[in-house]
Amino acid sequence: MARSVALLATLLLGCAGAPERSRVGEAGSAPRARYEATGTGTGDLEVVVRATGGFDEVALEPGAEAYVSDLRVADAEGRPAAYALGGSVYRVPACSGPCTIRYRIALGSVAEWFDDPELAAVVGGAVFSPPTTWLLHPEGRPEGRFELDVKLPPNVAHVSGLHEPSTHHFAAELADLPQAPYAAFGDLRRRTIELRSGKIDLAIAGDTPALGDEAIEGWVRAAATNVEGYLGRFPIDRAAIFVIVGSGGAIGHATALGNGGASILARVGADTPARALDDDWIMTHEIVHLAMPGLHARHNWMEEGLATYLEPLARARRGVISAEDVWSEWYFDMRQGLPASTDGGLDGTESWGRTYWGGAVFWLLAELEIRKAAGPRRSLRDCLRSVVDAGGNISVRWSAKRFVDACDAALPAPVLGPLYERHAHEAVPVDLDALFAELGVRRSQVGVELDDSAPSADVRRAITGVERQVASSTERATSDR
Ligand SMILES: [Zn+2]
Repeated sequence: MARSVALLATLLLGCAGAPERSRVGEAGSAPRARYEATGTGTGDLEVVVRATGGFDEVALEPGAEAYVSDLRVADAEGRPAAYALGGSVYRVPACSGPCTIRYRIALGSVAEWFDDPELAAVVGGAVFSPPTTWLLHPEGRPEGRFELDVKLPPNVAHVSGLHEPSTHHFAAELADLPQAPYAAFGDLRRRTIELRSGKIDLAIAGDTPALGDEAIEGWVRAAATNVEGYLGRFPIDRAAIFVIVGSGGAIGHATALGNGGASILARVGADTPARALDDDWIMTHEIVHLAMPGLHARHNWMEEGLATYLEPLARARRGVISAEDVWSEWYFDMRQGLPASTDGGLDGTESWGRTYWGGAVFWLLAELEIRKAAGPRRSLRDCLRSVVDAGGNISVRWSAKRFVDACDAALPAPVLGPLYERHAHEAVPVDLDALFAELGVRRSQVGVELDDSAPSADVRRAITGVERQVASSTERATSDR
């Protein structure tokens, strides 16, 4: 996680007179909280919270409370009410019922202190900070929705992964706020990537890449097209993707974060060559995460395993890598996911190998069992598409049961549910050598070779799609436009 500092004051110039935006009607009951966050001439945010109750204990990202000033509470009649700060939690008895809380937060100073774009940081002329850091919110999983209006001068950009029914007007569940999507203010180079079935708000901050921002846009678009091509649709109507351009010539760490929207935070060196962007797997991996609802942390292996399994598949199906590349990676790397004698089931595993590659083995087994049980015209794609069509994407949190049920709904008989039950709770040995031999994947001098005379070679060919040579980079560049 990168850390840096800067001046929000230059970003959030006086905008007290910014026009109020009309609210767009949304389905469901009235929100339990309406937030208004206004940038001030000194670089702070002034926040007003109008809550209907249940705000008697509220918090920011721990540590941010040190940068809060002028906090005032008023009860339902507008009378001043007391509050107490204990640790990083504000106790506000008056807000067990309707109340108003006003405060100012020095977001630039918070960014200097945290120096982490996942919490708050300055990147070039932008301040990265999700609303979790600067919006007082009830902790835990409170019921009800909130709405947020962000008011900034016209020359100050704001991009957020939160659902945005109209410009700078956001709406999601209060339970999303303790881990809300990434957001940033200020000097952001914005591009909209229209896909066949969704769009990406791309926000680039920091240095200018040697290849230009066009190269960043092309990289993100290609990864999104990989996933859209596999699923037949982009997993969500809109995602915000933030790319921080820093020093160096490589693609860095990236993370996806949902809960009330969809966002990805990625890092790229300014000197990253075109070849590295063409060959990258990281952005496709993160975009696969958008296609899966947030599950409890003990099922992390399902999310990481799926991203690990689908990323090469989605790239191979677009001809970016070959079928041999995919099977070679799986042949050599899936062994890292097999259980050791001390391992239990996949649920709750904290092992890297079990999480990523154990999860990927699980999804390969799911692929094979679905094809075996439901016939050659069905695949894991039908299961995942069924989840996405049922609204299962990174913006929502689901139980594992809801997820496997939504998947199995696409199949003539349940496959994922029983497979999950087997692998979640105890270690299941998997004979990968026998499995790959059956599929016709054999070790060769330089990697693997694919054997079309193997008993299940047709299944192998169906999984990776047409087995053809990788398109030349020129062809790829053309087809990506
Ligand atoms: Zn991941």
